[in-house]
Amino acid sequence: MDNITLSIVIPCYNEKNNIHTIVEKVLAAPIKNKEIIVVDDKSTDGTSEILDKEIAPLVSKVIHHEVNQGKGGALRTGFQHATGDIVIIQDADLEYDPNEYPKVIKPIVDGECDVCYGSRFLNQAAKGYLANRMANKFLTKLSNLFTHLKLTDMETCYKCFKREIIQAVDIKENRFGFEPEITAKISKMGIKVKEVPISYYPRTNEEGKKIGFKDGVRAIICIWKYRKG
Ligand code: UDP
Ligand code: MG
Repeated sequence: MDNITLSIVIPCYNEKNNIHTIVEKVLAAPIKNKEIIVVDDKSTDGTSEILDKEIAPLVSKVIHHEVNQGKGGALRTGFQHATGDIVIIQDADLEYDPNEYPKVIKPIVDGECDVCYGSRFLNQAAKGYLANRMANKFLTKLSNLFTHLKLTDMETCYKCFKREIIQAVDIKENRFGFEPEITAKISKMGIKVKEVPISYYPRTNEEGKKIGFKDGVRAIICIWKYRKG
């Protein structure tokens, strides 16, 4: 583990209440070599100024978008700047725990796979909105039908890739359609994908959760659009 560099890509839109805390947690995560890349997706709540003043000295790169694109767009920018061996996605909220990075990257470090997803539903008690959970389960099953992967959590934030692999994917989706798109495209590459269980501390819409019904519909369209065959 000490020989690898982990690039952590943080898409960030209007997260003034969380950005400092999550960056502190990422800095404290038990990985020796880290490259932290924060992509500000044209925040309007003061996050951009916090990033320049307080966060920039703590991380490797802060990149500002000129216009708001969505999580997929922010990740596309972040991945282009990554130079580490392994790349992981970290949302700028507190729903996932950076202390679990070693668990998620270990199967890649050990050569068991090229891509590893952290699953919120593998041997885990149910958490979060019932509607979101049902949507996640449905979308994961639908995605599996086309990808032939046996995932339990396609929509998870903790997706971790060998850098060459994520940089070889042409990401088209700007918003949350990124999740089914990347899963479909990875499945076509004929590489090994694994899942490990992770913890989940869901936030509410009031606390800033941005994914919604329309994103679920878009996910169905993306599963079909990027399917195998
Ligand atoms: N995000 C972004 N641009 C946007 C919307 C969201 O970069 O236009 C970021 C957001 O700040 C967060 C991540 O994408 O770090 C996921 O957003 P959210 O937590 O609302 O989604 P969920 O956890 O429901 O997938
Ligand atoms: Mg989130």
